[in-house]
Amino acid sequence: MGPIKVTFLGTGTSQGIPMIACACEVCQSNDTRDKRLRVSLHLDIAGKSIVVDTGPDFRQQMLRESISHVDAILYTHEHKDHTAGLDDIRGFNYFQKVAIPLYAQSRVIDQLKREFAYAFDENKYPGVPDIQVHEIDEKPFELKEIEVLPIRVKHFLLDIFGYRIGDFTYITDANFIEEEEIEKIKGTKVLVLNALRKASHVSHFNLAEALEIIAKVNPEQAYLTHVSHQLGLHAEVQKELPPNVFLAYDGLKITI
Ligand SMILES: [Zn+2]
Ligand SMILES: [Zn+2]
Ligand SMILES: [Zn+2]
Repeated sequence: MGPIKVTFLGTGTSQGIPMIACACEVCQSNDTRDKRLRVSLHLDIAGKSIVVDTGPDFRQQMLRESISHVDAILYTHEHKDHTAGLDDIRGFNYFQKVAIPLYAQSRVIDQLKREFAYAFDENKYPGVPDIQVHEIDEKPFELKEIEVLPIRVKHFLLDIFGYRIGDFTYITDANFIEEEEIEKIKGTKVLVLNALRKASHVSHFNLAEALEIIAKVNPEQAYLTHVSHQLGLHAEVQKELPPNVFLAYDGLKITI
């Protein structure tokens, strides 16, 4: 398969950082690592360009990273901070002249059909996003000859997907992972996992819970994402983390 090149397009929770109207020290910080767009990831695997989720900052993220080609979109779940930017794939349609394949479980596809009804119309208005929908379930599937293993995690009441590709696993918006699914993650070299803040939360791991999962999986490296302004300043939080755990930041690139 070759190396997996990962770019963190966004590492913030649904409100982003700074959060509108917030005067806290994190939202007011001048450290660029404290500026977090809504969570999303880009993967470059053997020249295939894959985006995980298209949040409200999708356009800005594509422009910032000069991404000129998208081969597929993988969705973790249907929340707006992960889907709102789908309309902006039109640029890729325009230049690539193909429908962009998207992969999601049926409940997520239903939600996309409600939110972007015009893109699913039988007789489409000219210029609407052109997509090709692939419904997935928990079984491994092939995406452009790349084997993808869905990891089922709990996001409060929702069963949502993280994804393992080779030695890389990406999980966001989880607050619980069954042992059976942890077993699927084991052996991964790099694990990306969500950690919202220090206080507990009904639908997201807090920092202590994320570190517990990381200790169980024991990857070579772990990166924390989907971060809220309540977690604290990047520079200070990073100092408190175990040596193999890093607080991700927007624009961070790693190769596995
Ligand atoms: Zn989210
Ligand atoms: Zn704030
Ligand atoms: Zn969510």
